Amino acid sequence: MSVWDDVVGQEAVISTLSGAAEAARGLAEQREARAGGGAEDPPSATGPGSAMTHAWLITGPPGSGRSNAALAFAAALQCAGDVPGCGQCKPCRDVMSGAHPDVVRLATEKLIITLDEVKELIGEAQRRPWTGRWRVILVEDADRMAERTTNVLLKSIEEPPPQTVWLLCTPSADDVLPTIRSRCRLITLRIPPAGAVADLLVRRDGADPALAARAARASQSHIGLARHLATDPDAWERRRRLLRAPVSLRSVGDAVLAAADLVESAESEAQARTAERDAAERADLMRALGLEGEGRVPPALRAQIRALEEDQKRRAKRARTDVLDRAMIDLLSFYRDVLAAQMGSDVERVNIDLAEQIERAAASTGPEQSLARIAAIEECRGRLRSNAAPLLAVEALMIQLRPQAR
Ligand SMILES: [Zn+2]
Repeated sequence: MSVWDDVVGQEAVISTLSGAAEAARGLAEQREARAGGGAEDPPSATGPGSAMTHAWLITGPPGSGRSNAALAFAAALQCAGDVPGCGQCKPCRDVMSGAHPDVVRLATEKLIITLDEVKELIGEAQRRPWTGRWRVILVEDADRMAERTTNVLLKSIEEPPPQTVWLLCTPSADDVLPTIRSRCRLITLRIPPAGAVADLLVRRDGADPALAARAARASQSHIGLARHLATDPDAWERRRRLLRAPVSLRSVGDAVLAAADLVESAESEAQARTAERDAAERADLMRALGLEGEGRVPPALRAQIRALEEDQKRRAKRARTDVLDRAMIDLLSFYRDVLAAQMGSDVERVNIDLAEQIERAAASTGPEQSLARIAAIEECRGRLRSNAAPLLAVEALMIQLRPQAR
């Protein structure tokens, strides 16, 4: 067992990061020896020749496990076992469970990371390690920062204290400003093979092997989605309903209804995910303000409640965007299968459980139509991400997906 076990299908990345952790250990030992002798300056973690450096940009497509890889690296840096990242020692276990005081992690469920959050992180980065050898600052969605915020971060990444390591995660290197990119060492995760994802679901989540294999394939190796499909019994049904809808639409009216249906179910799924936490947060805040059990909020305290509500609204929006984006990925996979059938390609199909619908759709249209539909889904996806009204965007899409005479 080691901290790398759940970083599936990423042998090259694991080898680079564990090499870096090895080099980091050497640097830390030198530093400790010198501190004991009281001589010379401590060695720096950087240097183009060193396997270790103090700023990393860990990229990979959504679902490839980039934040898992970053966390495993953080554990390997703090590890006290024989081989960095042993997974057994206390520092390793503490990092993996989120309890290590020298690994500060920012994971946001909101659409943006605020300037205040980044300033707080920079403060954390300036501290010396409490118990570990390194102070590790892990930012999971570094792409969700406004340019102004990024510029504040830049200064800290340029000249961090010698024992600080920044780990920034983004989908691709283009998601951060070139000034940040050029100061980080780049790590790129690939899409893991479906077999490796299925193994992980069986080993880590106790999923049934056949179901895990189907889920890994249907999610196109997106680890989070595959887990969702392998562990939530309703998820398959929702997915089937979604993928059957466009081929059964008869009219524009049908398309509008199908769009409303999809957006509504995205809303309720997102709400189910955030409601409990919203209520708990509100109760905590009321208690902190001394308003327990009271119906009326004094005017002086309303701003704080409003700030929380704004935060929660943003989070709900992000959750809904995520659910709709997942639906778009599923729709894309369906029409890619249709296109593959039309071209007579023997590429492995994603939706083996919908073979009949795919054959029917393939026979009744041509490849140009499939390509146009794929483009329409990509366009809708882009519009959803750029804050378009979801219902309008999805309606426009459903109208385009509706079967039409050839
Ligand atoms: Zn360890």
